[in-house]
Amino acid sequence: MSLNNIVSYEIIAHETPNVIRNCKNCKKSTEFSCSDKFRVNANQKMIDIWLIYKCINCEGTWNCPILSRVHVNRIDPLRHQKYMENNKDMIWYHAFQISNLRKRCDAVNKDIAYEIRKGNSESISSEVTIRITCKYDFGLRIDKLIAEILGVSRSKVNALAKAGAFLFIPDVTLKDKVIDNLQISVKGNWKL
Ligand SMILES: [Zn+2]
Repeated sequence: MSLNNIVSYEIIAHETPNVIRNCKNCKKSTEFSCSDKFRVNANQKMIDIWLIYKCINCEGTWNCPILSRVHVNRIDPLRHQKYMENNKDMIWYHAFQISNLRKRCDAVNKDIAYEIRKGNSESISSEVTIRITCKYDFGLRIDKLIAEILGVSRSKVNALAKAGAFLFIPDVTLKDKVIDNLQISVKGNWKL
């Protein structure tokens, strides 16, 4: 890597995505939010685990299957403990398995609140490399992220891209989703 400045940003999700599915009480398709609780059932040595979602309009719930009829010996004890304790990292891990949720629901609302937190100090350079960490994937597009970091419009980001201002590692495009450890080298005098 060249000797330009590296500025790191962490994308921090502030909430988990809601899912859209039929509510038996409301008798219509509606949003369910994650309750931040697992339900763990043990029948003899067989374990069932669900992540509980709640209808945002009523008391209705939907249990998202996590493990079904798994022998207790086949679950790592530490992992089992996390399910029992409603460990937040474990809940969020499952609540961001969007392709899995999409299979079980009508849709997933990925339009969540998030924050882009800058890691290190100010940098002024003719070229800067932005390093992104992103623990949870919620489909955020790269052009939207760059627009937020540089404080410009998305059309300006597109114009900059056409002018060859960005170099991505790995090789992605503006329309791709943000991935963890993405690096974006930006030409020009940007004060980040
Ligand atoms: Zn409902």
